[in-house]
Amino acid sequence: MLARAVAQDQVGHAYLFLGASCSGKSTAAKIFAAAMNCERQPAAAPQHLNTPTPQHPNTSTSVADWRLLPCGECESCRRIAAGTHPEVLEVRPESKGGQNISVDQSREIRRNAALRPKMGKRRLFLIPNAEAFNEESANALLKTLEEPSPFVTLILCAPNPSQVLPTIRSRCQIVRFGLASSEEIAEALTSRGTTPEIARELARACGGRPGLALSWAQTPSVLQARRRVLDLFAQVVAAGEKASRDPALGVLSLRLAEQMRGLVVSEKGEEDGPARPAKVLHSENLEIGLGYLRDLLLLCERADPLLAQNQDRLPELAGLASRTSAAWVLEQIESVREAQQLLDRNVAPQVVLERMFWALLRGRLPVAGRLYEGALL
Ligand SMILES: [Zn+2]
Repeated sequence: MLARAVAQDQVGHAYLFLGASCSGKSTAAKIFAAAMNCERQPAAAPQHLNTPTPQHPNTSTSVADWRLLPCGECESCRRIAAGTHPEVLEVRPESKGGQNISVDQSREIRRNAALRPKMGKRRLFLIPNAEAFNEESANALLKTLEEPSPFVTLILCAPNPSQVLPTIRSRCQIVRFGLASSEEIAEALTSRGTTPEIARELARACGGRPGLALSWAQTPSVLQARRRVLDLFAQVVAAGEKASRDPALGVLSLRLAEQMRGLVVSEKGEEDGPARPAKVLHSENLEIGLGYLRDLLLLCERADPLLAQNQDRLPELAGLASRTSAAWVLEQIESVREAQQLLDRNVAPQVVLERMFWALLRGRLPVAGRLYEGALL
């Protein structure tokens, strides 16, 4: 659909890309932006007809036959890839500690959207967190969405439609990003040099999100870390909702927190590549744990097991699901999300993890205001 719009010079003025995190929204937005501004033609073309597309095996002339083909070599393409193109502006939430897109940011988009591009054909605004608009900043953007300049395109991204204000949603063309099959992901990984065995494991573990698999493939130790994180969460779930009054769980919670913290320390020690901040590694580990709990919730609710992210842990998850309730799992998910928020606010990982495992095993603690202020740095 996007490729055909480029080829036929009918690019819309606002798109909303919807899909899970790491499902390819931002990557697609960049390729789309590059194709629109590529200095060489054609930037989009029908795909070779002999190559069947897995999602549309029976449609021979569908939109799936088109591909975005920016050259990747011209100055425009190179600048977009490097994030330095003057007409491709990324707007990230700036107010409320990176939670919200502010009214000022919306006004700045409006001002910039009125100016003609100096380089290339179109001025683009990439907004990776469309869920970060509040009523006021959304209202400040409406004029831009309603009466756009002919040379402007906005690409907004969000995990799901309910998180985007209806005023914005209704003025965008919706593009949905599904999850990729593990075969496709494994194939993509091997074509980039990952060994088939590791590619298969990554593909099974990433829950259909190619971005996650690609980033994990850069860090060989991540699969091992993932296994350990999942083991820790399996222990928490196995300890279960009934055990919450056992005083020994306090000791266990500290031990689990220490083990989880140790994963990041050892990963940072082993890695040869550029060191990533401990906060990011901790946050990824929490995301892995969250995925495990979501799978458990799916199974508690008797959803299709194929929807689970952690396909390789299904038998274990099914066993645990038969002994827990959805309400309890939801409570656990809330505790992990709270831990993620505290990490985002730069609370020390040790404090965050101890607090989280305590909450997971013994029930949640009230949130101390000063914890959010970062007083426990
Ligand atoms: Zn190009």
